[in-house]
Amino acid sequence: MARFGKLRFLAWPVTSVISLVVSATVMAVELELPEGIVTHPDGRKPVEELYRAYTSLVGKGWHLDIIVRSQPPGRSFALPIIALRSPRGGEACWILSGIHGEEPAGPNAIADSIDAIAALGERQAVVLLPLNNPQGYVNNWRYLNMQGYSDTIEGQSVGDSSHLLADPESPGRARASAASSVEADAITRYVLEHSEQYPPAASIDLHEDNLISEGYVYSQGKLGSAEPLAQAAVRTLQENGIPLMMSGETRFGEVIDNAIIGPVVDGSIDELMSASSIVVDGRVQAGPEADIVLVFETPASEIGLQQRIRAHAALLRSIRSCGPELRE
Ligand SMILES: [Zn+2]
Repeated sequence: MARFGKLRFLAWPVTSVISLVVSATVMAVELELPEGIVTHPDGRKPVEELYRAYTSLVGKGWHLDIIVRSQPPGRSFALPIIALRSPRGGEACWILSGIHGEEPAGPNAIADSIDAIAALGERQAVVLLPLNNPQGYVNNWRYLNMQGYSDTIEGQSVGDSSHLLADPESPGRARASAASSVEADAITRYVLEHSEQYPPAASIDLHEDNLISEGYVYSQGKLGSAEPLAQAAVRTLQENGIPLMMSGETRFGEVIDNAIIGPVVDGSIDELMSASSIVVDGRVQAGPEADIVLVFETPASEIGLQQRIRAHAALLRSIRSCGPELRE
């Protein structure tokens, strides 16, 4: 039996059980992790270390939810997609990361910044989805079904939300008839189910792009590229040595205004977070409608992983609270 901190791993295929004792209450949390996972060796933390850091919040009263156990075709074991909710509900800061498996900086930065996130959760409600594509993280695969981005083949992103987003040509209908994967279905359901108790005031999604040498920030919320928090994030990235594309267009043809791109229609979970209305099972209903929706894209082609992690960690630590009061 291998031991790893508080996580205990039994030989595969026997699953492991974590029991964290919090004061007099025993909170049994089951994360089933096989032994002998080999995480892509580029300096990113082993996935077990990420789970250990994230689940440390349970010791501070946070709720751990297993959204789904992800096992795409061809994988020999399942890995849990988890969420952690702060003890208090209410207007919440949603923090997402690891949607694309070849972008390790965000999930690593969250692990490094877990104390800052715990402190944020004492000031206001937080919902953390730190590693949305654990299989992709372990294997350095962007999508569930394929390794990298392609112009010709549709990659299944765990963040695909087209099955809930209105078709611009026909607003009463969703753009896709079904979710592109069980993972996308489960994650988007989770967002909708928990948006009632933890309505998203702000949503922050940590990404990278290994095809660019200068980064940028998407601001999908109400103020678009004029969002002061996006502007503050630009300054934080610059202070941490991340080169940014200040003008021109992204590789997807989106206009860049001082390193910020306003709302885009891309079928992503970020578009879902900002949507004022959505289509669920053929019926139009209110969407999560977060005021502030930021997506950070750090350039990964020429900057080392540790520097990218530090930049993402600086962004996380710069969040004093989530909501319009931050703009003051
Ligand atoms: Zn990405």
